[in-house]
Amino acid sequence: MIKTDILIIGAGPTGLFTVFEAGLLKLKCHLIDALPQPGGQCSELYPKKPIYDIPGFPEILAGDLTGNLLEQGKQFQPGFTLGERAETIDKQEDGSFIVTTNKGTQHHAPIVAIAGGLGSFEPRKPKLENIEKYEDKGVNYFIKDPELYRDKKVIIAGGGDSALDWAIFLADVASSVTLVHRRNEFRGALDSVEKVQELKLVNKINLITPAEVTALHGTDHIEGITITKDGEESILETDYFIPLFGLSPKLGPIGDWGLEIEKNAIKVNTVDYQTNIDGIFAIGDVNTYEGKLKLILCGFHEATLMCQSAYKILNPGKKFVLKYTTVSGIDGFDGTRKESPKAVVKAIV
Ligand SMILES: Cc1cc2nc3c(=O)[nH]c(=O)nc-3n(C[C@H](O)[C@H](O)[C@H](O)COP(=O)(O)OP(=O)(O)OC[C@H]3O[C@@H](n4cnc5c(N)ncnc54)[C@H](O)[C@@H]3O)c2cc1C
Repeated sequence: MIKTDILIIGAGPTGLFTVFEAGLLKLKCHLIDALPQPGGQCSELYPKKPIYDIPGFPEILAGDLTGNLLEQGKQFQPGFTLGERAETIDKQEDGSFIVTTNKGTQHHAPIVAIAGGLGSFEPRKPKLENIEKYEDKGVNYFIKDPELYRDKKVIIAGGGDSALDWAIFLADVASSVTLVHRRNEFRGALDSVEKVQELKLVNKINLITPAEVTALHGTDHIEGITITKDGEESILETDYFIPLFGLSPKLGPIGDWGLEIEKNAIKVNTVDYQTNIDGIFAIGDVNTYEGKLKLILCGFHEATLMCQSAYKILNPGKKFVLKYTTVSGIDGFDGTRKESPKAVVKAIV
C-alpha cells in the first residue's frame, strides 16, 4: 500500500505543479497516470509545439514545460505510479481514501486531487477495416516525435488544427506530405489554412480534397492506402498514415465515483475546487465551474488554492501564514535548501 498526503490522479501539468505547491506546505504527493510518462496532453499530444501563454515564458515547448515542472517538483520527492489507470476509490471510516489501479496497485491518502484532464485519451479512429493491425506499425493517432517521419512518406487525414499544423510542420521533415480531407473547407485557423495553400503551390504538401481514405494496405507495416475521390479509387504508397480526427474525451472510471459530473467534467466549487465529496478535489482540465477556462495557467492557479485547503484539512486549527519563496526559501524533502543570498547589512556611519 502506497501512502501519501495528497494522491494526485493525473500527471499532466496541473498534477505536476500540485507537487510543488504541496511541497511548500510540507505535504507529500504521489501521482498515478495511465500513460507511461508524465506530462499529460503536453507530452502525449504536442511535446514539440511551442506554448506562448505560460506566464514568464514568452515561448516554451510543451515537452520542455513538462521537464521544468518535473525539475521544480523533484526536491519534494513525489512518488509515481505510471502506466496504470486509477480504477476504483473507497472511502474509509476515518474519511481517507484507498484508490486502486487497473493493475491492482493500492494507494492510501487523506486527500485525493483528481487532475485527470481529458480523462483517458481516446483518439477518434476512422472506420477502416484492419486499422488495428497497423496501429504503431505505420498508423499513428498522435505525433510524439516528428523525427520519426524524417525522410519518410506521410499521409495525414483530417480537417482541423491538428491535421493542418502537423502537415505544415512535417512538410520540412518528411520526404513527402499528403493531406487528405473529406471536404474542401478546413476547420482550422485561417493562417494555417493559408500556409497549407502556400505549401501546396510549391509542391511541399500534396492536398487531396474532397476525398477519403477507404482502405489500408501492407503486410507487417503500412505500405499504402486507397483514396476515394469523386467515386474513383487510387492507391498511394506511404510509410505512415496519421488520421488526426481529434480526441473523444472520456472520463473513464472516475465518472463512476459518485462525483457530480456535468458535460463530461467534474463539478467543483470555486473556493478551493473541492467536489461534492469532502476530501476529493478536481483541478485542471477535468473540472468545470462557471467561467472555466481549460488552460494550463488556470490549472496552476487551481492547484495552488487546492493545496491551501488540503493543508487546512490535514492540520486542523494550525494557523497558516503565506510566505514568499523569495523570503522563506525552499526546504526540499531530499534535504536540499534553496534560498536567495542574504542581504549584507552594512553599518551606516
Ligand atoms: C494541441 C494542443 C495545444 C494546446 N495548447 C495550449 C496552449 O497553448 N496553452 C494552454 O494553456 N493550453 C494549451 N492546451 C491545453 C493544455 O494542454 C491543457 O489545458 C492541459 O494539458 C491540462 O492539464 P491537466 O494536467 O489538467 O490535464 P492533462 O494534461 O490532460 O493530463 C491529465 C492526465 O491524467 C491522466 N488520467 C486521466 N484519467 C486517469 C485515470 N483514471 N487514471 C490515471 N491517469 C488518468 C491522463 O493520462 C493524463 O496524463 C493545448 C492542448 C492541445 C491538445
